[in-house]
Amino acid sequence: MGNKMEFVYTEVHVYQCACGKGNYSINWHTYRDDYFNEDTRKITVINCPDCIQTYNVSGLSLTHKVNSQNSGKAAVEMDGLCKTMVVHALKRYKVEMFNYVSNIPVARWHRLWKIGSPTLPTFRKNLKRDGAESTFKYNLSYGPSAIERILDTLKEMEIHDDQLLNWENELNLLKKEKRDAIKFETDHLFTGKLLKEYKTYEGPQY
Ligand SMILES: [Zn+2]
Repeated sequence: MGNKMEFVYTEVHVYQCACGKGNYSINWHTYRDDYFNEDTRKITVINCPDCIQTYNVSGLSLTHKVNSQNSGKAAVEMDGLCKTMVVHALKRYKVEMFNYVSNIPVARWHRLWKIGSPTLPTFRKNLKRDGAESTFKYNLSYGPSAIERILDTLKEMEIHDDQLLNWENELNLLKKEKRDAIKFETDHLFTGKLLKEYKTYEGPQY
């Protein structure tokens, strides 16, 4: 009794693998508690000794392991670089930037930092409630958007920092690398022919 999740059934879709010698299957295990709340866990299996070496399952398709590694690597490098840039910029220009954005009209701050969510009226309210300092800090807490906000602010303030400019070029290259890798990945997805789909009351065997 209680709200413990119990296994109920599995929905299995089996697709032909890329080399055609085996298959890959996508299994959705459904769990339910005494209050009929349901939870589904997806488990994928590649049943082919060759394809399991080369592919991962992505969505309903197979994707080359090397491709997903490339986009993942670029993403990790981007994150690291963003953090380095934010630390550098805050160390040098935090006070100037804070004075700048907290003294321009709120709408301009909201637009300059491309905040989007929350909307301007809510941003205004939050700003009044939390104060400028914590709003400043909060909106610079996530690496990739933080560095964009910082760079835009410094540009508007006409502050030129060679080190940051070099890093910005490097960051743009990484962004392109990641975009290309993701594009390559989606262009080279293999979706096999659906061989069979069925429901089973057997629990997960993995
Ligand atoms: Zn295969």
